[in-house]
Amino acid sequence: MSATDVITPSRLKPMPVSQPVELSPKPSLIGMTREEMGAALKEKGVADKQIKMRVSQLWNWIYVRGVSDFDAMANVSKDMREMLKAHFTIARPEIVEEQVSNDGTRKWLLRFPPRGAGRPVEIEAVYIPEEGRGTLCISSQVGCSLTCSFCHTGTQRLVRNLTAEEILSQLLLARDRLGDFPDREAPQGTIMPAEGRKVSNIVMMGMGEPLYNFDSVKTALLIASDGDGLSLSKRRITLSTSGVVPEIYRTGEEIGVMLAISLHAVRDDLRDMLVPINKKYPLKELMDACRAYPGLSNARRITFEYVMLKGVNDSLEDAKGLIQLLKGIPAKINLIPFNPWPGTNYQCSDWEHIEKFADFINSAGYASPIRTPRGRDILAACGQLKSESERMRKTERLAFEAMMIANHGED
Ligand code: SAH
Ligand code: SF4
Repeated sequence: MSATDVITPSRLKPMPVSQPVELSPKPSLIGMTREEMGAALKEKGVADKQIKMRVSQLWNWIYVRGVSDFDAMANVSKDMREMLKAHFTIARPEIVEEQVSNDGTRKWLLRFPPRGAGRPVEIEAVYIPEEGRGTLCISSQVGCSLTCSFCHTGTQRLVRNLTAEEILSQLLLARDRLGDFPDREAPQGTIMPAEGRKVSNIVMMGMGEPLYNFDSVKTALLIASDGDGLSLSKRRITLSTSGVVPEIYRTGEEIGVMLAISLHAVRDDLRDMLVPINKKYPLKELMDACRAYPGLSNARRITFEYVMLKGVNDSLEDAKGLIQLLKGIPAKINLIPFNPWPGTNYQCSDWEHIEKFADFINSAGYASPIRTPRGRDILAACGQLKSESERMRKTERLAFEAMMIANHGED
């Protein structure tokens, strides 16, 4: 695709929440690599000499213009569109629920059709608007096989991995809903400017452990960063892992996005309890993998996430241990006030205490922003995502929301 025009995104317009889609056995073109898409077209009889051109056309319609209907592809012949409709889909997942927090955070509960003999599954994606940027938090699995003791998602067993299509669909759907695709009338060859997008950043920090779904996450992120399509810079994509060490090496070599590590403790005995994968890949191995992450510099640091749990991991001894542990790694420490959820025994450290902890780390030369909780009122904050059958009933949710407001004010 050649970039001829740069246009601004269409304005945010209200759109009806999508209707349940018919369960379709047709494969989706979303999430296929160019090679896979070419092979799929060839199998349906598209001539060899046309394949490259057809793939570029489809790529542009799907990822630059964000169409979800083959009939919108104006420069594709009617016959070709009929063939595509007969064999493939580019439909979005069903929106089961869309909630908007009082701080502007949006959460979508999305339903994907069954794969093979399975059942439909539901996951959550969250959009967090901030000054000058907007971040979409994407899920990689339905539930999680790990059981970090402070995480709500960890109480939901793993149902299945998401496919590359389902991972990318969260981004496409968010951009649809936020009016972040160019107007359909824009000329062919249009690209979206990197500036001014509603979704300027993505983080793999939703439900699931992305590195336990490596292949699909890799395919999805390479498509999201493809310069002729969604065009998100790899510096604006962050993958967060609880510490699956072998796949951290592969992430550096094969994906090349920014890395975040859910650290949460600086001693193996405590981390074994909070982040049980530590028993398999203890701190020493985790830190070695971080040190070896390619391309690290002061401008390209690893983010270490550290949830602040009152009386558990928040002493000044812990802060000292943290500085010790990260020595020599270009690092930023993201302090996350613990977000409570129904049934948890943990409490969030007091605010002044978190600030003291942050100051201590700061004075050792590390940036240590405190992550402002966003969307807590709609259970959209870190570690609060959970879906499907175990979703809270409305009455339970109202009681929980009242408790949150009483404890935290309307943050
Ligand atoms: N599974 C991946 C990514 C998803 S979790 C991982 O663990 O890194 C995104 C971040 O939120 C992680 O750092 C996670 O440890 C943290 N988190 C989980 N539950 C939380 C909670 N209740 N309050 C605050 N942060 C939480
Ligand atoms: Fe899974 Fe991450 Fe939650 Fe741990 S913190 S249970 S790895 S989603």
